[in-house]
Amino acid sequence: MALWTEQDQQKFDEIVTQLQYWTSQPCLACKSPLLAEDVLYSNALGLKTSPQCLPCLAKGLERNQTELKTTLLQHIRRRPCLCKAFELSAGALPTVLDCNFTPTENLPLSSSNSALIPDLIWDAGDLGCGDLVLLLRSKLRAMLPGELLELTALDPGAPEDIPAWCNMTGNRLVFQQHPLYFIRNKD
Ligand SMILES: [Zn+2]
Repeated sequence: MALWTEQDQQKFDEIVTQLQYWTSQPCLACKSPLLAEDVLYSNALGLKTSPQCLPCLAKGLERNQTELKTTLLQHIRRRPCLCKAFELSAGALPTVLDCNFTPTENLPLSSSNSALIPDLIWDAGDLGCGDLVLLLRSKLRAMLPGELLELTALDPGAPEDIPAWCNMTGNRLVFQQHPLYFIRNKD
């Protein structure tokens, strides 16, 4: 179990507020009432201000719903703030997570890295958790398919969050050496 920091506490409080606000509100896509877990899944994907239900999230990402859920639960499990929120609302959730935080190693340099010329450079500073992926998502959306984003993210959770988020959303992380990340926009 990772250390519980003051920043985690802030993020946790923020997520609890979102849960209270959004749970039972209509999904922004299909209008069916959101479950607590839908709100957490949306947060993990950077949709904290426009949450959708899991079926709509999977449809939007063209992912198999069961696979997406598995990936999202793995991601939530590694984030202390999200995982604690998940546990808190466990009564309303079908899955209870065993919170764990396991660091991943840096991706090895690939042979094509000499050609990493970014189309956009974004310094995210110390933005973390939901805010980082929220803004990352809007940055990539404004770019053309296949364009390369150079991201600097100081948040200590970034080495976990960014690969997980890229994996979930189908954007390709081509280089990672914290705090530097190169992300190829989804085709
Ligand atoms: Zn929906």
